[in-house]
Amino acid sequence: MKRSFYTNSNGPTWSVSRDQQLQACERKYFFQYVAEAKINSPDPWLRGIALLKKLKNIPMWQGECVHLVIAEYLNQAHQKQAPKLDSLLLSLRQRMQREWDFSEKRRFREEPTAVGKTGVALFEHEYDEMPPETSVEALIEKAAKMIRAFHSWAEGESGLAEKVHTADRIWIEPPAWGIEAPGFMAGNVQVITKVDLALHHRGVSFTVYDWKTGKPPRESAEPSQNELQVSVYMLWANRGLKLPLEGVTSRLVYLGGDQAKELCFDLDEERAVETSRIIEDSVRLAQQWESYFEKRRLKLSDLDYAASVEECRRCNFKRVCRANLTPENEL
Ligand code: SF4
Repeated sequence: MKRSFYTNSNGPTWSVSRDQQLQACERKYFFQYVAEAKINSPDPWLRGIALLKKLKNIPMWQGECVHLVIAEYLNQAHQKQAPKLDSLLLSLRQRMQREWDFSEKRRFREEPTAVGKTGVALFEHEYDEMPPETSVEALIEKAAKMIRAFHSWAEGESGLAEKVHTADRIWIEPPAWGIEAPGFMAGNVQVITKVDLALHHRGVSFTVYDWKTGKPPRESAEPSQNELQVSVYMLWANRGLKLPLEGVTSRLVYLGGDQAKELCFDLDEERAVETSRIIEDSVRLAQQWESYFEKRRLKLSDLDYAASVEECRRCNFKRVCRANLTPENEL
C-alpha cells in the first residue's frame, strides 16, 4: 500500500476535519484517505469505496447549498451589487431541486463524476434510508430560513455588505488546493485552512468568517472543535500571511435559529502556541499511523470499529465495513 499522507502535489497536508476523522474512527480514516479509492480504479471494491466517499447526508447537503448561495451573495456584494433576498432564495430553490432530482433517481451510480458538479449523492438515497415524511419542499424551506437569517444579519447589524466591498483583500470559499488555497506550513506539512470568508482591511483588521447551519452551542469552559477550527484559521493570518495577531479575529455565525447569532474569537500568543502544538501532535500521530500501513505492520482487519454502533449506522462506509448494518442485511 502506498503512503497516502501526501494528498497534494505540493506535499503532505493536514486539516481539522482530517484530524477529526482519525479521532472518530480509524477505519473511516482508512477508507477516506488511505485506501486510495478512485471512481476509475480497476478494482471494483475500490470503485465502490470511491462512490461511498462522495455521499452526503441531508444536513450536510443543506449546509453546502446554504454556503454556496451565501458565496453568491458575497461575490456580488464585493462588486457593490448585493443581490436581493428573493433572487438568493430562487437560486437556492433551483439548486436544491435539481440536485435532489439527480440523487432521487440514483443518477450518481451511472454518473459519479457529475457528483459535486451538477448533482449530489445523498446517503439516504444510496442506502434507501430516507426518513418517512421527508419532502424536498420542507428541506428547501429549512435551508431558505437560514438564508433569510443570513441576509437579514448581513444587511443589518453586522455591516457585512459594507465590510465586503471595502476590503483590500477578500477570500470567498477559496479552493482547498493549489496556489490560491489558504494555509501555512507546520514543519513539512501544509495546514489547509479552507475558510468560508476572510476580509483584510490593511492596517485595520483581518477577519475570518465561518457559517454554521446549526444552533449556537451552550456556553462551556472547554474550547469546542469549532473554536479549534477558527483558531487554526487565525493562525493562517499570522503564520501564513505574516500579520500580527492583534487585529486578527474570527466570527462563527450560527444560522440555525430564528436569527443569526455571531460569536467572536481572537487569538493571543499563548493560544496560538497551544494551537500549533495541537496541530503538530495530530500531524505526528497521523504520520506514524500511516507509516504502519506503508510498512505493512497494520492492515484494515487490525483496526477497531467505532465505539458506537449508531455512529456506524450513519457512516458512508458501512456497506464495505459493517454490511450487517445496511437495510438489505438487517433483520
Ligand atoms: S461503519 Fe463504523 S467502524 Fe466502519 S468506518 Fe464507519 S464508523 Fe468506522
